[in-house]
Amino acid sequence: MAADVRVVIVGAGIVGAACARELALAGLQTTVVDRGGPGAATTSHGEGNVLVSDKPPGPELQLAQLSRRLWPEIVGALSAHGSPRVRAAASAVEWEPKGGIVLATTGEGAAALTAFGEEQRAAGVRVEPLDRRAVAEAEPFATTEHTAALHYPEDGQVQPAGAATALLADALAAGAALRTGCEVHAPVVRGGRLVGLRTSEGPLYADHFVDAAGPWAGRLSARLGAPVDVRPRRGDVLVTAPLPPTVFHKVYDADYVGAVGSSGEDLQTSAVVESTRAGSVLIGSSRRRAGFDDRLRPEVLSAVAAKALRLFPSLAGVAVMRAYGGFRPYVPDHLPVIGADPRLPGLWHATGHEGAGIGLSVGTGRLLRQLLLQERPFDLDPEPFRVARAGVLGTGGRAKSEEKTQERTEEKPQEESR
Ligand SMILES: Cc1cc2nc3c(=O)[nH]c(=O)nc-3n(C[C@H](O)[C@H](O)[C@H](O)COP(=O)(O)OP(=O)(O)OC[C@H]3O[C@@H](n4cnc5c(N)ncnc54)[C@H](O)[C@@H]3O)c2cc1C
Repeated sequence: MAADVRVVIVGAGIVGAACARELALAGLQTTVVDRGGPGAATTSHGEGNVLVSDKPPGPELQLAQLSRRLWPEIVGALSAHGSPRVRAAASAVEWEPKGGIVLATTGEGAAALTAFGEEQRAAGVRVEPLDRRAVAEAEPFATTEHTAALHYPEDGQVQPAGAATALLADALAAGAALRTGCEVHAPVVRGGRLVGLRTSEGPLYADHFVDAAGPWAGRLSARLGAPVDVRPRRGDVLVTAPLPPTVFHKVYDADYVGAVGSSGEDLQTSAVVESTRAGSVLIGSSRRRAGFDDRLRPEVLSAVAAKALRLFPSLAGVAVMRAYGGFRPYVPDHLPVIGADPRLPGLWHATGHEGAGIGLSVGTGRLLRQLLLQERPFDLDPEPFRVARAGVLGTGGRAKSEEKTQERTEEKPQEESR
C-alpha cells in the first residue's frame, strides 16, 4: 500500500533528509524539494552536537534519547549499505560518541547543575559526577576553576552537512527523488485538502506534504494557509585554526542549559567548545532574535570568545580562522512541531527544533513515518509535538508569524481542481 502513497517533503536540510530516508525506506514515493541545495541552509550553519545532557526530563529529552539510539544504528546501516555511493556518504557523517562534560563555575551553578543531573538520571540519562582529578584527566586544558562537573557519556557529535547528505543518499538509493532550485510558493487545495504545491518549477501533486523548512517554516506554512509560529533565532560560532589535541569531549558551561531554555530576544551567550576531526575547535554559541539579519556582529563574537576562555584559558592565543552563523528554527514553547496539521488535511510539519535539530533529526524522521503510516505503537508519545498547541498556533489558534501579514493574505489556499 505504501508504494502507492506519494509524499513531497519541502526542505532538504537534515530534518527533511531524515524524514525522506524513513519514508523512502518504508516504500513511499518520496520527493524532496528545496529552493537551494541539500543541507545548504541552517544545517550547514551550526554545530553537530547530539546532546542528551542539555535537556530536562520531558518530551524533548525523550526525542533526544530515541535519536541517540538511532544515530549509531543508522550510521552502521549506511556504512554497510550495498551502494558504494551511500557507503562513501556514510564516512562524511563523522559520528563521534565522545561524551559531554558540563562544568559549573559558580557555587549557585554547582547546586543547579547537580540537581539537574539528578533529575536527568531519574529520566534514564547516564550522568556521572567528576571530581577535580577526573576533570583534569579528561580535559587537561580546561579551567581548574570549576565548582562542579558532570560527565554525560551518551553525548555525541556528527558533521551536520555530511550527515544530511548521507541520510539523503540513502533515501535516493531507496527510490526517492531530489529537486533542488525549486521554491514552493502556494498551495493547491481541493475539497479542503492540500493536493499540490505551486512551485517555481511548476505544480507538484502528492497525497501528503511535509513542511521541513526549518526557520522558514513560519513563512512556508503561512504561504500554505496554515501558519505555524516558527521564527529564526540567530546563532554565531567561531572556528579556530587547526590545533594539536586540546578538547576531547563536548565541553560546555552549565549556564548553556539556561540559554537554551530561555525565550529572550536579547543576546545570550554560553560556551560550548568542541574539536572537529580536522583539528579546528568550534566555539559556540550565541542566541538572539533578530529576524533573518545575517550580519556577523563583532560584539557577539567577542562575548562568545570571552565565555569560551573561561572554560579553556589555554585558547587565549589561538588564531580564529573564521566565524559563521545561522538561524535556529525557534518555537515559543521550545518543542519541535511534528505531525499532521488539523487545519489542512494533507499537510504535515516536521520543524521547530531550534538548537537541537541535528541531533533530533533522526528521531523526528522515525516519528513522522510512524504517524503518517499509523505504525503503532509509536516509539514515543507524539502528543506533546502536535501542531494544535498554544505555543505553535497562539492562544487564538492562529500563529503569530514574523512574516508580513500581507504574504499570508495574498497567498491564501485556492480551491482548485487539477
Ligand atoms: C549557531 C548554531 C549552532 C547549532 N548547533 C547545533 C548543535 O550543536 N546540535 C544540533 O542538534 N543543532 C544545532 N543547531 C540547530 C540545527 O542546525 C537546526 O535545528 C537544524 O539544522 C534545522 O534543520 P532543518 O532541516 O529543519 O532546517 P534547514 O537546514 O534550514 O533546512 C530547511 C530547508 O528548507 C528550504 N526551504 C525553506 N523554504 C522553502 C520553500 N518555500 N521552498 C523550497 N524550499 C524551502 C531551505 O532552503 C532549507 O534548505 C544549531 C544552529 C545554529 C544556528
